[in-house]
Amino acid sequence: MSDGFLTELAAIDDIALFDTPSDMQPFLSDWRKRHHGRARAVVSPGSTAAVAQVVALCARHRVPIFPQGGNTSLCGASVPDESGDGIVVSLRRMNRILSVDPQDNSMIVEAGCVLATVQEKALAADRLFPMSLGAEGSCQIGGNVSTNAGGTAVVRYGNTRDLVLGLEAVLADGTIWNGLRTLRKNNTGYDLKNLLIGAEGTLGIITKVALRLFPLPRHRVTAFFAAPTIEAASRLAGEVQNAFPGTVSAVELLSAGQFELVATHAPNATRPLSSTAPWYVLIELAGMEDEEALSARFAGILEAGMAASDITDAVIATSERQRQQLWYIRHSVAEANVKAGRGVAHDAAVPPARIPEFVNRSQAALAAQFPKATPIVVGHLGDGNLHYYAMFDRTDWALYPEAQTIAAINRTVYDIAVELGGTFSAEHGIGSIHLDDMRRYKDPRELAAMAALKAALDPLGIMNPGRVLPV
Ligand code: FAD
Repeated sequence: MSDGFLTELAAIDDIALFDTPSDMQPFLSDWRKRHHGRARAVVSPGSTAAVAQVVALCARHRVPIFPQGGNTSLCGASVPDESGDGIVVSLRRMNRILSVDPQDNSMIVEAGCVLATVQEKALAADRLFPMSLGAEGSCQIGGNVSTNAGGTAVVRYGNTRDLVLGLEAVLADGTIWNGLRTLRKNNTGYDLKNLLIGAEGTLGIITKVALRLFPLPRHRVTAFFAAPTIEAASRLAGEVQNAFPGTVSAVELLSAGQFELVATHAPNATRPLSSTAPWYVLIELAGMEDEEALSARFAGILEAGMAASDITDAVIATSERQRQQLWYIRHSVAEANVKAGRGVAHDAAVPPARIPEFVNRSQAALAAQFPKATPIVVGHLGDGNLHYYAMFDRTDWALYPEAQTIAAINRTVYDIAVELGGTFSAEHGIGSIHLDDMRRYKDPRELAAMAALKAALDPLGIMNPGRVLPV
């Protein structure tokens, strides 16, 4: 790469440029500090026009581009590769809320807006932007769109794909595509918006997003219950979902081991129940109907669950503070697990009814192969997406050859998930860590179609190379 490239880059209006090792450092390692890369420079444009000029320059010089949002990817998608040939394009300066339209139930934001800010601005307009996940204080809406993020509200409101009405993006040749519509219907051929959603920055850089808003629920009822078996937890959760269609906004599962890690490592964690159990479920209803009637019906189902011994203990939050304490437990999982030891984490999904089978088979297979691993389960029970961890204390982990161990554990868990009609990547994406899994589990015709699309939209292969598509 010639020095001329950096000189031309620095001359582009409205960019912040970082090119010293210390300035670039925060952009070159991921949130868990497992993936590290190198870059020629990091640029943070302040406008779509500046992004377009950066991409056009990179195309002219054949310089790889690694788009970055909040850098909270859990699959090695957001940091550059180790070649040092490319640049990171950070969207963090494009963080303006451009409009909120309660009448249209929509808002338009720049891609670098932090998810929590988007939620707050919707709330200020008496509307709900429902996406919620543990990284919401730092992940950006452009990153959420690029990974088609899930989170805790999928069971009611769908994945990010269901929340995006329109997009603006800079394509790999530096041209700007304006698809920033708030239409609910638009059958006009191939859907570029939906190709860019979940593309993990391999087809272009998302610069603006039109989002769908919802009426604010008038009240929420949040419960935390203990169950003796995964079958009982799953059964009860299913009963609540069937009893309140369209009202259940979250159904989250924690194994006892996961709960204890949070209780130990998250500084503000509480113990909402006086007894312990193998499984815990956090369920939230978000309703428009009469609060007392909703709470009473919900309590009735929990009481019936106790009578049938599917529930051994339960609490319904009686204040917003108590509700926040319950959610703190769930949202502190990733942070607690990083502190606790070395976990091999999974983002598998199976049809919800097959969760007990998936958990039981995975536990048995891993116990046989890795007796020193503690199985830890957490996830979105309502939509079938479980984060299954094989957790090692750091001394035990040092006894195993790292790469082979991770590969063997992944193979065991994902083979079971796929055999049950599931997937190896439910919501985090492919990034750089699942390329072998793509080869093993993805239909070759689908992979060929993806490669053809990539070649058509990014013929120079400069957009986030080495991610998503196995070569
Ligand atoms: P980054 O990590 O910066 O990037 C992710 C990918 O998107 C990369 O490929 C990057 O190149 C690309 N990208 C980013 N911005 C753009 C853009 N503007 N245009 C084009 N490409 C872009 N994920 C879930 O789905 N559900 C969860 O419940 C969940 N919980 C989490 C909890 C914690 C504590 C953490 C750390 C992560 C969690 N994640 C979860 C993973 C992560 O937060 C999501 O994948 C999130 O959507 C990533 O957003 P980001 O802005 O950090 O993107």
